[in-house]
Amino acid sequence: MKLFRAPKRSLRVNLVMGVVAMLLPWIMFVLLGGKLLYPQVIGAFENVVQKTGTDMHAVMSLQALVLKAAMPPNDYLIHGDPAERQNFARLSRETEQAFEAVLGNYSGMPEQQNTVRSAQEAWQQASLIAEALLALPRPVGDAAAARDMQRMDAHIENAHELLNRIHGLAQRRSTEQLVQASAVMQQVMFLIAAIFSVSLAMAAASGFGLARAILVPLRALEEGASRLGAGDLSHRVSVDGQDELRQLAGTFNAMAERLQKSQAALEELSAHDGLTGLYNHREFQRRLAEEVERHHRYERPFSLLMLDLDHFKKVNDTHGHQAGDEVLRAVANRIRAEVRPADHVARYGGEEFAVILSETLGPGALAVAERICAAIAARPVALAEGAVPITVSIGVAAIPEDAESGEQVIAAADQSLYAAKNAGRNRAIRHKPVFGQPASYLGNP
Ligand code: GH3
Ligand code: MG
Ligand code: MG
Repeated sequence: MKLFRAPKRSLRVNLVMGVVAMLLPWIMFVLLGGKLLYPQVIGAFENVVQKTGTDMHAVMSLQALVLKAAMPPNDYLIHGDPAERQNFARLSRETEQAFEAVLGNYSGMPEQQNTVRSAQEAWQQASLIAEALLALPRPVGDAAAARDMQRMDAHIENAHELLNRIHGLAQRRSTEQLVQASAVMQQVMFLIAAIFSVSLAMAAASGFGLARAILVPLRALEEGASRLGAGDLSHRVSVDGQDELRQLAGTFNAMAERLQKSQAALEELSAHDGLTGLYNHREFQRRLAEEVERHHRYERPFSLLMLDLDHFKKVNDTHGHQAGDEVLRAVANRIRAEVRPADHVARYGGEEFAVILSETLGPGALAVAERICAAIAARPVALAEGAVPITVSIGVAAIPEDAESGEQVIAAADQSLYAAKNAGRNRAIRHKPVFGQPASYLGNP
């Protein structure tokens, strides 16, 4: 027999599923963070910060260029060096290119573009004045040129100021981005907290489930084992589910079933006589003690018949031991047929029998004994060797009329049996200690 079949849903599968259930929210969180949080939120924010940085760098370079481009006309007015014309032409070109680049940086941002354009216009006006100044043949000490120079410087200052505004705008934009990012971060934190709570709840639930799935059956098995150890063979373990522990419970129950059956068979064997199937001497003593106990506790009466086959030795001598055994079996059956199912019929030993009649007083017991005598003597026992006539003598004693204890009632019944033998056999005699007289005779008085 295959005792251990693969379970439908094994403990290992349950454990793996429990761990996966605990980890699932975290796996989801990592995937979500990798796919959504970083590129969409943090990555985008980083891009904005980086772009703002490069744009600002370009604006500051442009401001430096504008200031630098104002230097050659100034120097020309002081020193009158014609080389300043080339210097200015170069710086002017660079400044124009830088304006175009900065404008390009702010495409799609009208406020920034407009500001840069205003600065460009101021620069262009300054540039026109500068070119006119650089065209003067003798600039040094020219008062009108000095005034024009001041106008040019004012335009340069204006362009510089306008470009300064871009910083303010960039700062405002960064602040807006930060506010946005922190709002997103707050949502992300909320998401993390939610996932953490769900994960914790799932971990707790699956931990609890796993503990139940393992500990409850284990406890049931442990209790089953200790009850079995204490001799309670009727106990069975009940385990829900489909796993190895359920399988183990099934095996445990099958073992307990087998033990219970063999114990019942053993008890049956140890309580009965092999030849006649009646109770044996030991079982007779146990049941007699029970009846005595019942009498002491509830004052219930009972009677005892001690029965001995007459001249049985002769049966053995004449027909052999096997025939004798057949006779013993036939007598046992006739006795059993004459008493109630609740009465206890035992083979006391050899060719002697004992019958305990529950709830029966002396006179009633004597009547039963006489009936048994008559039933056995009525017809011979039919054997292969021929019919064997058989009779029995019976001694009767009752509790409480004739005795108080088990030993006393056996002794009293034995005395009566002895009296029955002495009186000629094939009869029942009830114990009569007070008058020393037999109570009744059957057969030949
Ligand atoms: P009494 O009427 O005085 O009782 O005579 P009895 O011959 O029956 O008495 P006794 O005690 O002398 O003999 C009992 C005989 O029962 C002796 C023994 O061989 C026989 N006996 C005892 N047990 C068994 C048994 O199990 N099978 C058989 N075949 N005979 C048995
Ligand atoms: Mg005998
Ligand atoms: Mg005998």
